[in-house]
Amino acid sequence: MRRQIEPLVVGRRIAEAWGHPSAKFAAAPDASGATIHSVGRRGKYLLLGLDDDRELIVHLGMTGQLRLRPAELDPYVRAWWRLDDDAILELRDVRRFGRIGVVPVGEYASLPTLAAQGPEPWDRRLDDGGLWRNLRRSKVRIKTQLLSQRPLAGVGNIYADEGLWRAGIHPARRSITRREAEDLLGGLRQVLEQAVVNGGTTLRDYRTPDGDRGRHQYDLECYGRAGEPCGRCGSELRRSIVDARGTTHCPRCQRRR
Ligand SMILES: [Zn+2]
Repeated sequence: MRRQIEPLVVGRRIAEAWGHPSAKFAAAPDASGATIHSVGRRGKYLLLGLDDDRELIVHLGMTGQLRLRPAELDPYVRAWWRLDDDAILELRDVRRFGRIGVVPVGEYASLPTLAAQGPEPWDRRLDDGGLWRNLRRSKVRIKTQLLSQRPLAGVGNIYADEGLWRAGIHPARRSITRREAEDLLGGLRQVLEQAVVNGGTTLRDYRTPDGDRGRHQYDLECYGRAGEPCGRCGSELRRSIVDARGTTHCPRCQRRR
């Protein structure tokens, strides 16, 4: 999404903007008058750099879509920004789990989850045992730690299940070895890279800024495939609940120990 948005908005001034009055979206108009000079990303947050030393921050939540306004009217648009070329960037969010902020660069106190993000998945600090050390601080279940965004940034429910399956780690375990953490990092990098190439995973809501569906749902090995055979060993993939989140794993490849 970041890569697709970038060429559409960089260098554009925000001529006019609107946000739904709820606290999650009301900040959208604060960016009016500023020019967008960059589009960055931290974990699952998009960070649009503004020329007045602030950032326009957009989190899509579960059902958010950031897109250029198509022709038809849509009741689920929660915010929009009209650019000086008259294109309109809008956030559509059916269930309203998304979030918008306009803050001075790097000041994320009002966005605590963003402030607490761990390193990006490709950050070299995660190599040579870095991820393992980040995970070892806690005795929380491994999948729940990943979803917290603290050991590393950007891994949600789908990619957590996929990464743990690739590394052969049971999602409910509370500690893993350094070797397993290396396998997990490799598995997560692999699945995230593939998913970016595939334009994301569209199970229901996700759309690219062009309105297209992603294609990674066709390459999922584990997530959402309970009852189907494991692609590695043929055992039936099993669904369970790990700290209230629906989870799929292979009972043979991912042993609890
Ligand atoms: Zn298996």
